[in-house]
Amino acid sequence: MHEDLKPKNKKIRVITTIAPLYSFAKNVAGDYADVENLLPSGAGPHEYSLSPENVMKVSKAHVLIENGVGLEKWLDKLVLQENFHSESAGVAKQIVADSSSGINIISNNPHIWLSPKNAFIQVNNIMDALVRADPVNAEHYTKNADAYIKRLEHLDREITEITGSLKRKEFVSLHSAFLYFARDYGLRQAAVIQEFPETEPTPRHITDVMNVIKTNNIRVIFSEPGVPHKVVETLAKDLNLQVYSLDTLETGAFYPEWYEERMRANLEVLKMSMNQ
Ligand SMILES: [Zn+2]
Repeated sequence: MHEDLKPKNKKIRVITTIAPLYSFAKNVAGDYADVENLLPSGAGPHEYSLSPENVMKVSKAHVLIENGVGLEKWLDKLVLQENFHSESAGVAKQIVADSSSGINIISNNPHIWLSPKNAFIQVNNIMDALVRADPVNAEHYTKNADAYIKRLEHLDREITEITGSLKRKEFVSLHSAFLYFARDYGLRQAAVIQEFPETEPTPRHITDVMNVIKTNNIRVIFSEPGVPHKVVETLAKDLNLQVYSLDTLETGAFYPEWYEERMRANLEVLKMSMNQ
């Protein structure tokens, strides 16, 4: 009987699904594990379908880190199968980590990573999974996670300070991505154009959104990078709103500092837009 999770002296392979999880896992792993993201840069997680190459990558991973809260529906079937078949790909036992475990979930809303207060928990869950898969390097993973969480605590304090002093607390956004951020930092999502990117808004819903904007005297609407949206443009024109771009971090680049950089870029956008 052997329970070796990896060949001796070889790094474990860790797969994350989306860019924020890559940043989290890369900071915990340091040089002790190989981390790769499954979705290519530019591919959104709400409506994704796996390629044969993706399937191969997942089956060869020692650790698969999912966001959870139903975001990776396109992965569920595969994971159920792969837990049984991964042995044939040279992986004795695959660990599937749900990064959302222990987070206070807003029903059916997967955008947990947009609040650093959730990111603390996600990073700890990732650390636990790496320690389980590669106990020899446990001390490194624990140290790395502690150091990264300190950086995230710094980010959290910056967000608390800046959001606390914003003149306006209510916003309208393109899809329902900023609910956790709003909950944790005292803001309110007054309305969304569409609940999820794949659901087109009905004319009735647009009318409701317009009424909310007028009633709450909202001046700003948040779009997303690289997403030209007719409804946003029309609303902005009709109601004389300013359009700003807030990043949902659903697509992005793969390096350790990326999460903090994008969160700080969002903070700059909030400072500009919510103080008018
Ligand atoms: Zn989303």
